[in-house]
Amino acid sequence: MFRLDLSANEEATHWLDTVWLPPARLVEKFGPPREGDFHRITGCFLFLDDAGHVFTVYDYKATTAFWGLGENYPTPEQFWSSQEADEIHIGAKIDSAEEFVKWLFDQCGLEYVPPNVARERAEKQRRDAIVATYASKTERCCPQCGAPCPEYRKTCRSCGFEIGRGNIS
Ligand SMILES: [Zn+2]
Repeated sequence: MFRLDLSANEEATHWLDTVWLPPARLVEKFGPPREGDFHRITGCFLFLDDAGHVFTVYDYKATTAFWGLGENYPTPEQFWSSQEADEIHIGAKIDSAEEFVKWLFDQCGLEYVPPNVARERAEKQRRDAIVATYASKTERCCPQCGAPCPEYRKTCRSCGFEIGRGNIS
C-alpha cells in the first residue's frame, strides 16, 4: 500500500489534486510534516507506494508565510493545528493519485469527499461562522456577497471584498 517516508525524494513531482482535510488530522496521524520553503509551502508529508512512487501532501500559499501577517490567513502553526478542513495539495510524478487520496482519508478516519463537494461544505461552514460572529453586531452587509460586515472592518471576512470602513454610501 502506502507508507510515510519523509526522506523520500520529491524532485520532479507536480501538483495533481487539491483535497479538503483538517491539517491537524494529518499531524495527529503522521507526526509533524517535513519543513517546506516557509513561503509557499510550510509543511510536506511524503509517502511511497509499493512500487516506489512518491506522493506529496502539502499546504500551498495557505498561510501568513506567503501572504504576510493579515487576518484572512492562518499562521503556519494555526494552519497545521486546525481541525477544520482546509485545502491540502497532493503531488506525484504519476498521473493519478486517486487511490492514494482515498487511502489518506481512510488513514485520517475520514470519509472521502470529492474536492468540489468538500469545498462547498467548507465555504458554507466558514460563512455560517462569520454570520454567527457578526450578525448580532452590525446591520452592514458586504455588497459583493451579502455577509454581515461590521463598520470597523475594511474588508469582508467572507469574500475579501474591500468595503472600506463606516457606512456604505
Ligand atoms: Zn463579502
